[in-house]
Formats: sequence, structure tokens, C-alpha cells
Amino acid sequence: MKEIYLDHAATTKLDDRVLEKMLPYFTEIYGNANSQHAFGRSAQKAVDEARDGIAKLIGAKPSEIYFTSGGTESDNWALRGICRALKGKGKHLIVSKIEHAAMLSTAKELEKDGFEFSYIGVDEEGFINLEELENSIRDDTIFIGCMLANNEIGTIEPIKKIAEIAHKHGIFCFTDAVQAMGALDVDVNDLGVDAMSFSAHKFNGPKGIGALYIKTGVKIDRLISGGHQERTKRGGTTNVPAVVGFYEALRLAEKDLQKNAEYVSALRDKFIKKVTEEIPFVKLNGPKDGKKRLPNNANFSFGYIEGESILFSLDLAGIAVSSGSACSSGSLEPSHVLLAIGVSEETAHGTIRFTFGKENTEEEVDFVVEKLKETVERLRAMSPLFKLQSDIKSV
Ligand code: PLP
Repeated sequence: MKEIYLDHAATTKLDDRVLEKMLPYFTEIYGNANSQHAFGRSAQKAVDEARDGIAKLIGAKPSEIYFTSGGTESDNWALRGICRALKGKGKHLIVSKIEHAAMLSTAKELEKDGFEFSYIGVDEEGFINLEELENSIRDDTIFIGCMLANNEIGTIEPIKKIAEIAHKHGIFCFTDAVQAMGALDVDVNDLGVDAMSFSAHKFNGPKGIGALYIKTGVKIDRLISGGHQERTKRGGTTNVPAVVGFYEALRLAEKDLQKNAEYVSALRDKFIKKVTEEIPFVKLNGPKDGKKRLPNNANFSFGYIEGESILFSLDLAGIAVSSGSACSSGSLEPSHVLLAIGVSEETAHGTIRFTFGKENTEEEVDFVVEKLKETVERLRAMSPLFKLQSDIKSV
């Protein structure tokens, strides 16, 4: 059976070239990067090279890159670190309604500790409401955060403008660039943010490694206490193979960024065109303009059927997709992102996210559309809601 992976927003395959770079650091150069002997120094050299290289690729200084276990930790650190560092200054924070669970569930916990959050709405394509954001600013606002690109519907947010608004009011500005990194040209100076999260497994790097960029001079407390790693800001023995793989994956992603973005967006556009033309009662969620959404993202609601039923039928045919975001799968709650863009609960339940990668082909797109058509037709034939709808139409 064919195996077609269309869930690149959840995670990606480790690039063979990345694995090759990582392998010696498991068995040959295995020293603790904090040790002072030759074993340690060799490991530290690789970590320094990776930090320098990653910093250069995003326009940062090496001393502004802090390695973490990934996007979730970096998001937690940014929120909790600012709350701890600036609690004397204020207790109000602003985030968008469509942030990842790593942000929103942290916000809910911080609310229990007495911090107050404003959750800013988005329009029907998922773009943040800048007026509402600026109007929400209070004298005690200490944090403004918005993701650079949404993981479910691919909307690319106006972070540069958000950073300008934040800084006009002297407020710290954070972006979660987990989905954007490796797909878009990301430069911290151009964006103007004070901190930014990113994670290697979203661009063919290893899982469990990411970074928080923290601009020089920003006051932020540590999240994880321990040894002197990461200039005492993040304790824990450095995962040297993962750090090496992180840098190599980002280097390769940036080198081929334009080429991959063009290739992947052509697959996405072909898919969107075919699905829209060939399957009735579908709604494309997220921006209509392909340049305003992540190159790899297509998100469709299929009327009168359940997303889970589509997902499992496609899975049986060897096709991997996601209903909502991977992180919320397992929960039957409708996606908070879809509800925020005004999709009804019922329609939200019939939603599937398709995210393409450079390994996918045009033939795969054709095959998936055929399977999807069959699946949707079969499920609708069994759907009482669809039957009712067609009876009404035929009267
Ligand atoms: N932020 C966004 C926007 C994401 O899409 C994800 C993962 O899907 C995360 C954060 C969490 O990243 P990680 O899997 O590295 O913890």
C-alpha cells in the first residue's frame, strides 16, 4: 500500500544529511559539553558552532540563542519568565485567541496565579485584530504575544506591526515562530520582536530540541533551574547530537527555502483547486491568498461529516492527515482556531488539515484527491444530516 504523509505541521521526517551529522555525537564525541577535558571541549565546540550558525541564520547574536527542549518549553519560558521578571511592573498580558496550546494552557495556569490576560480576536481568515490589540493595552501590560504563523490554518500574522505597537507602549513582544521557521524567511531584526520560539522537528530536524531567542537586554527569569548551561538561564545537560542536528536542519531549510516554498505551495494550490472544484460543500479555512498562508497548509471543512471519520478512512488508505491540530487530537472539542474565525461547531467537527512537504509529489496530490472524493461521498451517503439536506434541496 502507498504511504502518503500529509501531516508536516505535526512533525517532519529527519533529513538523512541531518542524521549523518548527528551520529558521531552519540558514540564518538559524547562528552558533556560542560566538562573541561578534551571530550567536553569537543562537544562544546559543536554546540558553539551550532549556536553561532543558528544565530546568523535568523539575524541574532549567538548570545541571544538559548537551547530548549522545543516549542512548548520555549513558549512556557517566554510567558512564565516575563511574568516572574516583571510582576512588580504589571500583571496584564495580551495574546491572540489562536495561539498554540503551549501558550493558551500556560496562560490559563498563570491566570490562577493572579495574572490577567486579554485574548485578541481574529478575522474570518485568522488575521489578528490590531485595533482590538492596541485598545487592550493597559498601564500594567507587560507582554504582547502572537504566533508568526498559525499551525491549523496557516495564517501569517503581521508580527512586525504588532512589535511596533508593543514597543510604542514600551511592552515586551514575543512571537511563536514554530510553524514559520524553515518555511518563511525569519529575521528577528526585521520582525523587531524581543523573544521568539522555534523547534527543529518542524523543518526535518530532530524532535525534542528548539530554542528561545531572547534579545540582549531583555529581563526574563529562567524556567528551568540547574547547572550553568545556557549561561545559567536553562539548566540541564546539553543534548549535543540534537543541537548539531538542529543547526544542520535549519541550514538546509534556509539554503533551499525559496525552492522548497515554491514546490510545496504549487502542490498545495493544485490540491486546493481540485478539492474546491471536485468536492461539493467544502470550505477552505484560512487566507484565500496563498501568499498570506504557510506554503504547505490547506485546511478544509467538509459539510455534513465528521473529520475523524475522514481521517480514519484516509489512514486505512495509507494517507496521514490531521483533524484540527495534532496537539488537540485525542480531544473531541472543536478547534479553538476554527471557532475564532467564525466556523460553527458543527462545521469545525468536519475539518481536516493537510500539510505538504518537500517529499510529496503531484501524483500523490491526485491520488489523495481521488481517495478523498470516494471517502466523502461514502460518508455522506451514510450521513443523516446530508440526507436531510439533499431531501430539502430536492423538494
Ligand atoms: N507552537 C506551535 C505554533 C506549534 O505548532 C507547536 C507544535 O505543533 C508548538 C508550539 C510546540 O512545539 P514542540 O512540538 O516543539 O513542543
